[in-house]
Formats: sequence, structure tokens, C-alpha cells
Amino acid sequence: MKFISTRGAAAAENAAQAITKGLADDGGLFVPESFPSVKDDLKNMLSMDYAERAAFIIGKFLGEYDKGGLYSACQKAYSQFEDGDAAPVVKIDDNLFVLELFHGPTLAFKDIALTLLPYLLRTGADIGGVKETILILVATSGDTGKAALEGFKNQQGVKICVFYPSEGVSDMQKLQMCTQEGDNVKVVGVKGNFDDCQTAVKKIFTSSEVAAELKNENVVLSSANSINFGRLVPQVVYYFSAYCDLVNAGEIALGDEIDFTVPTGNFGNILAGYYAKKMGLPVKKLVCASNSNNVLTEFFLSGTYDANREFFKTMSPSMDILISSNLERLIFELCDRDSALTANRMSELKKTGKYSLDKDEKAALIKDFYAGYCDEEECLSTMAECFDDLGYLCDPHTAVALKVAGDYSVYSDSNRKMVVLSTASPYKFSQNVLKAVGGKFVKDAFDAAKELESLSAAPIPKQISELKTKPKRFTDVIDKADAAKEVLRFAAEKIRK
Ligand SMILES: *Cc1c(COP(=O)(O)O)cnc(C)c1O
Repeated sequence: MKFISTRGAAAAENAAQAITKGLADDGGLFVPESFPSVKDDLKNMLSMDYAERAAFIIGKFLGEYDKGGLYSACQKAYSQFEDGDAAPVVKIDDNLFVLELFHGPTLAFKDIALTLLPYLLRTGADIGGVKETILILVATSGDTGKAALEGFKNQQGVKICVFYPSEGVSDMQKLQMCTQEGDNVKVVGVKGNFDDCQTAVKKIFTSSEVAAELKNENVVLSSANSINFGRLVPQVVYYFSAYCDLVNAGEIALGDEIDFTVPTGNFGNILAGYYAKKMGLPVKKLVCASNSNNVLTEFFLSGTYDANREFFKTMSPSMDILISSNLERLIFELCDRDSALTANRMSELKKTGKYSLDKDEKAALIKDFYAGYCDEEECLSTMAECFDDLGYLCDPHTAVALKVAGDYSVYSDSNRKMVVLSTASPYKFSQNVLKAVGGKFVKDAFDAAKELESLSAAPIPKQISELKTKPKRFTDVIDKADAAKEVLRFAAEKIRK
């Protein structure tokens, strides 16, 4: 399938090329030329396991990849999840389900895509005849960085460099990244927030000077952020999988519509749900849940995106984002794929920090979406109520979604089933989760995790407990202006064996 850029001045001849490049040359995002319908295949998907469902959905976009190879890559990726189940659906109340996406190697939903992306990228590069070393640049709000590092560590012909906001991630998230093993990895803290990291990385991507220097080193750049279509397409799968599981459990009949609530930051996760709907999944509403950085809530309400606002550091740091990259893909669809208009809006956003939709676009927006937010106090009380009343321990990101799902159910007064996406293990945010469910603050993340374990039935994952003794390899913190320099230095380094 061909891929086009949201800004109209670039294209990729197939998914392999779109995934290898990550970002289009015009600064836009690659989108598939059309969305294949799988409506009539839903019935067949019921009896498939997760890896089969994944290979089936992903294969619809990646026709140039070998089918058998794709299926074994999916099997290999998803066998790394606890109990071999990448996306279990858990019923926590009447009509209310949690889709647990955090049972992978790094305990966040990013693992669903990043256990598979190394295969998609390597194979894509081979299909395209790319011989250069691929340097993957990542800006992370906490979870993508670690998941990408684990996915790509020690992979032949690939290097990976991660930028994270030095004071904007949880203690456990920071430790996970700073102790990363592997010969081909680099982790750098940036003075600033996630938006600073993301802007710095995007700037490096579009700099012709950087490109020229990298050419000398025989290096090309790619991205493991959700601007890369290879990140999005594995995320489409779990919407289908959750739906099939609900049919199989007798909770819904095939064809019934359901709702999803998604804790949202960069708009990658929820966009994957929108793509699933476009492919024929019976979804009524996608509920976009934000924390106090509620730029998206206001966008859905008013039709104006305005990033000129205070930035808050919250206890759901992976959603502390004001410039939501993947929204570009949504507004591209809302204006019937008018790339000139999309490009204009993106340059407006860059210049003034805002842009507005017209009336028809706004109507189209609220047909598929509902939006709400959850402040810090509500986040704590939701974690506490969820634990006390339903016996379910959730992390702060999931709590944001549960709170907004509750608001939506009051507003919509429907009997539809609601699936809330759970994006991280509570142990990645042990202090704040303990504060909510145990009523006290413990400063040390490991001590808090221990107390949490004794309160709840959920054991501490070994990925957390083993962090305590791992040596810290990466402690550098830089100014955002020096990001390009770091990348060039890393590109020139020989991979140590
Ligand atoms: C990344 C992340 C999110 C936000 O997902 P987006 O795709 O950026 O919208 C939510 N929760 C957690 C735990 C995350 O790691």
C-alpha cells in the first residue's frame, strides 16, 4: 500500500519505506492511502490468538512483508508478555472493562508496538535496500524510551538514542532508562519538558546540516515515536482483540457497538482506535481522557487547539504533553485529507501555538469522540475508590481514563460496554499509587513498592525489583540546544562489543 504525507509534499511507495523513514521529508506524518475494511473478517478473528490477530490486521497495511515472517515476528513479540497474553480484558464492574496493556517487558503499553517495531523496521529497511546504519531517535515522556531501548538493544545495524525530560518522569521510569543495557544505546536527560524533547528531535529530523553530516558517517535516521506508522499499526490490533474477547465472553453480540476510553498524551493510542473504527470495528465513541494538561479536552470542546498555556507536571507524566503530534493525522482526516490545509494549520501551530477547525470539521469530530479530563485530586481519589470499591489497583494514567469514563457514562446514559485502556503498571508510579490507596507518602520508590505489594494482591514485577541493584550507565543532562551535537557524536561512535 502507498503512503502519503499529511502535508502533501512527500510520499512513500509502501509501508516498508514509511516505517524506515519514520517522518515524511516535508515534516508531515505518513498515513496509508486508504483504510482496508475488515468488517467481514471480524467473525474469523474470534477464534484467532493475539499473534494471529496482529499478523492479520498489520498484514492489511504491510502487503510487501512476507506473511509467514510477520506472523512469527508477532508470535515472538507477544510471547514476551506475562502468561503470553499481550492484551487481556478484565471486567471490573457492570458494563466496565479494563484492557490491560502493561504486561510486557517494560510494564507500559508502549511494549505492544515496540516489541514488534524492530522487526518491522529491519525488514522494511531490507525491502528498501537500505544499507546504512539506522539511528533511531526517541523523545520520551517516560515509557516509550525504555520500551524502545529494550526492543532495539544490541540489534545489528541499528543505534538508538533517547531524550527524556530530566525532571519530568517518575523515579522508576528514570531508573529503567538510566540502567539500560546494550552496546548500541544512549540515554540523555534534557533540561525541559517532553515538548522540548519532541521539538528538538523533530528539528534534527528536518535539518539538512545534520543529514549531510550523518551521510558522511553512513547513518540514516528513523523514529520509534508514534509519529512512525510502525508504532501505530500494532496498536490498532488490541482494539480488535478486545472486541473479539468481549464477543467470545458473551458480553456482546457480534456487530454491537462499544466505547473505548483512552488516557491520551501524544494522541497515538487513541488514533489507533480511530483507525480501527475506520477499518470497520463497531465503535460508537472514543473517549479522550487528559490530565491537567487538558489542551485536547478544550480542542474537542471548542474546535480550537491552543497550546499557549501553563504546563503542569502531574502524577501521570506520560501524558504531560501540550503539542500532541498525532492529532495532525486526525485533523487530516477531518478535512477530507486536504494536505494544504493541514500543512497551513501545522505552520500556524508552530508560529502562534494555535489553530481552529471549521464548523463541519467540528461536527465530524464530536461524532466519533468525547473528551474530558481529570485533575490531580480526582486522580488520587479515583485510584482509591477503584481499589476500595472494585478491588482493582490501577496506575495514575489508567485512573485518569477511569474518571473520564465515569463522567462520560453519566453524560451519555447508555448501556453500551465501556473498555478503558490501562497503559502502565501501578508499580512504575509506586509512591503516588501508595499515597492514593494506602493514605501515606513514602519517598523511596522501592519502599513504596514494597508497601503497595503488602496492601494489594499484585506482586512487584521483577522488572521493578531488579532495578535496585543495576548500575546506572547514563546520567548526562543537557540543554535542548545541544541535542543535535549529542546525536552527531553518537552517530560517529563505534559500537563497542
Ligand atoms: C504514552 C503513554 C500514554 C499516552 O499515550 P499516547 O499514545 O501518547 O496518547 C498514556 N499512558 C501511559 C502510561 C503512557 O506511557
